[in-house]
Amino acid sequence: MLANTPALRAEYRNVWVVAEVSGGKVQKVTWELLGAARRLADARSCELWCVALGDGVSKETAAIHGYGADVALIVDDSRLARFDDEAEAAALVRLIGKYRPEILVCAATTRGRALIPRVAVTSNSGLTADCTGLAIDPESGDLLQTRPAFGGNIMATIRSANHRPQMATVRPRVMNALDFDPARKGQSISEGLLEGESGAFKTVLEVFHDEENPVNLSDARFIVAGGRGVKGAEGFKLLRKLADAVGGAVGASRAAVDSGWVPYNHQVGQTGQTVQATVYVACGISGQIQHLVGMQSCDYIVAIDKNPDTPMMRLADAAVVGDLYEIIPAMLAELART
Ligand SMILES: Cc1cc2nc3c(=O)[nH]c(=O)nc-3n(C[C@H](O)[C@H](O)[C@H](O)COP(=O)(O)OP(=O)(O)OC[C@H]3O[C@@H](n4cnc5c(N)ncnc54)[C@H](O)[C@@H]3O)c2cc1C
Repeated sequence: MLANTPALRAEYRNVWVVAEVSGGKVQKVTWELLGAARRLADARSCELWCVALGDGVSKETAAIHGYGADVALIVDDSRLARFDDEAEAAALVRLIGKYRPEILVCAATTRGRALIPRVAVTSNSGLTADCTGLAIDPESGDLLQTRPAFGGNIMATIRSANHRPQMATVRPRVMNALDFDPARKGQSISEGLLEGESGAFKTVLEVFHDEENPVNLSDARFIVAGGRGVKGAEGFKLLRKLADAVGGAVGASRAAVDSGWVPYNHQVGQTGQTVQATVYVACGISGQIQHLVGMQSCDYIVAIDKNPDTPMMRLADAAVVGDLYEIIPAMLAELART
């Protein structure tokens, strides 16, 4: 929606987080977004709303308040049992028109990436995807949306001065949730799905899950990641052994994925996943900025590389100089001994 005069801008108020919902349950990334959005709402002295669309989402109202939202705006409808980007976008655009939020934040997940661009286009707003930082400009009150740009080599801060709502997406594990407070209460508003908002253009014939490659990198506490230095798909079996030995997951650089050694859902970085493991072991990954943005907030980083002078070796808490084909077997032998 165009809001390019001070009077029109003043009609838009409050910060919204669009909940990530799966199987009627609000997902953890929503709590992370609420943590970040709480600061924005406090800086704007306005309310924080969480909009949850799905089948059975009413039961999540207490959790939504407990994680920091003042208002839970609920669209609980059995027609939303399966994610339907068209229906949810139509409902969201209608609710934006009705309640006029100033800022809207959504998760940069598969679901969010399908949903929010539709909402942004239909409501004639801008959208900054994959933000790594959100803040309020103290002078203008505008949302400052920071994200990597130009291949990740610089950080750009983007402002939507003339359009409302200001929209941004943030990946899982980038922001921190507030501690859950069961005593925190708020207002709850229930809205429906209108006739014509669902099933307008497409029918879902079948839903299937990729059971072959279940990879849960974003929740993994221990990640063993390989890059071009692994030199082939065979080498990833060695990395898998180390990951299995410590109950971890296997990650990869884009170079390894592009070479076809490991599927895309293992990729860490700007165009892959953002991870926040307790321990991240980078094997033969030089650490270009596009990889680092996806893993640099891991608690403890171990780098194994022949070259002692790579960005990853400089970033690492423990830098092991040498051939990964000698070092990983030695680590496995040590693990087997203990
Ligand atoms: C728009 C854009 C988005 C991108 N998104 C991503 C992304 O999401 N994720 C990502 O990872 N990249 C991404 N990239 C690519 C990124 O710029 C790098 O090209 C890539 O990360 C390099 O991968 P690498 O570190 O595995 O390979 P290299 O840079 O080639 O590093 C290989 C390392 O292995 C070491 N090595 C070789 N043999 C051994 C051995 N036997 N033992 C130990 N070490 C050894 C070498 O010394 C070297 O340091 C993106 C690029 C662009 C432009």
